[in-house]
Formats: sequence, structure tokens, C-alpha cells
Amino acid sequence: MQHFPIFVALAGRRVIVSGGGAGALAKIRLLLKTEARITVFAETPDPEIRALAKAGAVRLVRRALDAGDALCAPLAYAANGDPDADARAAHLARADGALVNIVDNLADSQFITPAIVDRDPVTVAIGTEGAAPVLARAIKRDVEEQLPPTLGTLARTGKAFRRRAQRLAQGQVRQAFWRDYYFDAGPRAMEDGGEVALKGALERLLAHHLAAAPRPGRVDFVGAGPGDPELLTLKARRALDEADVVIHDRLLPLAILELVRREATVIEAGKTGFGPSMPQAEINAMIVAHAAGGAHVVRLKSGDPGVYGRLDEESAAVEAAGIQWRIVPGVTAAAAGAAALGQSLTRRGRNSELRFLTGHDVEGFAEHDWWALARPGTVAAVYMGKTAARFLQGRLLMHGADPSTPVGIVANATRPDQTVIDATLADLSERLSGGAIQGPAILFLGVGPRASVASVAAPAQRVGEGAR
Ligand code: SAH
Repeated sequence: MQHFPIFVALAGRRVIVSGGGAGALAKIRLLLKTEARITVFAETPDPEIRALAKAGAVRLVRRALDAGDALCAPLAYAANGDPDADARAAHLARADGALVNIVDNLADSQFITPAIVDRDPVTVAIGTEGAAPVLARAIKRDVEEQLPPTLGTLARTGKAFRRRAQRLAQGQVRQAFWRDYYFDAGPRAMEDGGEVALKGALERLLAHHLAAAPRPGRVDFVGAGPGDPELLTLKARRALDEADVVIHDRLLPLAILELVRREATVIEAGKTGFGPSMPQAEINAMIVAHAAGGAHVVRLKSGDPGVYGRLDEESAAVEAAGIQWRIVPGVTAAAAGAAALGQSLTRRGRNSELRFLTGHDVEGFAEHDWWALARPGTVAAVYMGKTAARFLQGRLLMHGADPSTPVGIVANATRPDQTVIDATLADLSERLSGGAIQGPAILFLGVGPRASVASVAAPAQRVGEGAR
């Protein structure tokens, strides 16, 4: 190790920056996170530096650094963006007793600035001794993802509560309390009520741990997105990391289920939309039973849990059992499918309204406001529409829809086997016949894939639309 990582107390101390360009500004921005007294030496400072000086955030001296300027400063940055000017400034500042960093010159620097993840008062510094800045950035990104943005607030409030927590026996009992606070009760309280809710949450948690009561269970209804694991939200990832029990629908890709914490119990609830399934009441009971036993249950649903996911029935059951729950939204199939089509779901002059329909409901093929759907310019995303395609087509044509209306079909959106079909209302059922596509599919009435839009629609109509 050529550089020893330390945290330097800078509150109220002088830090010198020599230079007024982009390099200097970057260092100044970092230093502004501290309580250091920053003095900048620059003949022609960047307007932003001038503005900072005007606001009193830095002291600006409009000349080059000189002998004696860095006296009493523990750190100095040579950031002139010019090797000669930097060498001169570094020499002078060192003579005054400061440790010097020369921007982009590792060999002549006495200290280096790491990549920083800032969750003040929690700070993570990443250094590679200049060997691999790309690596440092990648690690920084990973750590950023791991540490919720609220961590700093949690830590500050937690610090103020340390005395109270001493009522808990030292060792495992107290550790369990803090783990609960930082990774569970704290983040949840922040989410529900913001910073002001933290104090109450800490008190409740303390009472809980003092009584040595078992941790209450809870349920997260989590959207898994359309299939690509990269489209999971960070919240969803974290929920999968922490779950004791994961109850998921059929057809969730393995790549997502593999992200579940290894020790968790994973249960398939065997549901596909309104199709044949484990009875809903049984699923509700299963969720409630696990959470009532103290488990953190993740109910994992494809797409967004609130779109054709029977979420209300499950959340009502959980609520009736007095169990805490929340919803983690996900990317719904309509959004994923539209991205695959390369199309926008709303467009000025075409549709200011967007409909989500289901091809099926509990009673079979679903009935809709066909007159409205048949109007030109209508855009509707049809879920579970594959087997209902012929029915949809018949109803729409019967109500006067233009047979040349584009219908984009996207199967297995965002998955490796994604398929896009460019159909029209006239040939819709034909294009889907004979099991032409496998897997979940979403139909877009009124929107086809981007490249073929022009060839599908009546030219005159499209030109008029584009001009608007
Ligand atoms: N909650 C889900 C929808 C569940 S209903 C969501 O928000 O996306 C199941 C229907 O969703 C399927 O019949 C299909 O129409 C659609 N669907 C789900 N995943 C899909 C995917 N990857 N590609 C295309 N359609 C999908």
C-alpha cells in the first residue's frame, strides 16, 4: 500500500486551491462538502468560482499563489491545468508545510483524493493508487447502490440515540437493535414519515428489543418488471436481498429468482393473470400465515403489482390480519412493450389518452367500451390479449374500427426471446394463430413498431398527423 487512507479533520482549517479552471472547480466542489476554509488563487477564475466567492463559500485571491500563501494549511491542491504552473505552486505550498496534491500527477503528489460515496456522516473512500480509475468508479457505483440515500440521516439520528440504546445489554442484543434500525425499521420509518418519524421509530424499536419481543412480520408487494433483471428497481433488489419468504407468480424468469437471498424460502403461487391458478384465497392465506409468523414476505409479481395483479385482494387480507405492508412499483408490460416497439404511448395530436385493457377477466373474454376503442387515434395496451385476439378484432371491426389500424404485438418483452410483430386489425388473429408466439404478449391497438408505422397506416392520415 503506497497511500494510507485516513480521514483528515478540516473543519475551520485552511485548504489552498491554486487554479481557476475546471480541474480546480472539481476539487472545490468536493471540498465544499467539508467545513474547511477554502482559499482559491487564480488570475482568471471560472465564473462559478467567482459566484462561490461572492456567496462567501470560498475566498478568492486574484493572482497566482505565492510564497507564504499556504502557511497553516494542511492541504493544498495544484490545479492550474498547466504542468509548469502546477510545479511552481506545488513547490511553494510544500515549502509552507502543506501536503500537496497535483491534479492528474500522481508521481509528484503527496496525497491523492479517493472516489467518495457521501452519506455524511458515513463516508466511503475508494482508492486504486491511480491504477484503475474505471474500477474506482465501478466500485463507487456499486456502493452507491448498496447504501440508500437516506443512510446519512439515519446515521445522524442514530448517533443521537446511542445513549438511550445503552439500556440494551452490550453485545448481540444491542447489535441486533442497531441492525434492525439501519436496515429495516429506520428506512421504513423514513419512507413513511420522513426524518421526523425516526425518533418515534427508535423509541418503539427500543421498547421492542427491551421486551425481547419477536420481530413482527411484514409484506412487500414488489413489482419484478417485465423480465430483464436490470429493470428491477433498486428497492426491489433490496427487498429480494432481505426477504425471508418470496412468493412469486408463475413464469418469473430464473434470472430474477436467482437474486433472492440464498436462505430465503421461495414459493411459486402458480398464478398467471386471470388464468388457471391456485385459488386466490389460498394465496392470501399463505402470505398472511408467513408474515404472521414473523417473516419478511416479498410477494413478487411480474411488471407492476398494481396492474392486473390482484393486489387489492392480497393487501386487504394482509391488512385485515394487522400486518404492515407496502408496495414497490415496477415497470409494467405496457411500458416495456412500447420500448420494444420504439414508440411513445401518447403523442400530441394523436392520443392524449391511453387505455390499459385486459383481454380476459374472471368471466372470460372481457367486454369494453368498443365504440370508444374503435375511434381513430385510440391507443390501448391490451394485457392477456393473445387468446382474446379474434374476439377483440371482431368486436372492434363490428364497431367501425379501421381495418388498417396498426396493432403492435410484443411477446416476452425485454427477455432474450423478445418478439415484435407488426400486425393490423385486419390480420391480427391470423398473425397470432397456430401458436405463432409463445410466452406472455402485450398488444398495442393503434401503435405498431416504429420502422413499419408508415407502411401500415394510410399515408394521408400519417402526413397530417406529423404536421401537427
Ligand atoms: N402486473 C403485470 C401484468 C400481469 S397480467 C404488469 O404490470 O406487467 C399478465 C400479462 O401481462 C400477460 O398476459 C401479458 O399481456 C403481460 N406481460 C407481462 N410480462 C410481459 C412481457 N415480458 N412481455 C409482454 N407482455 C407481458
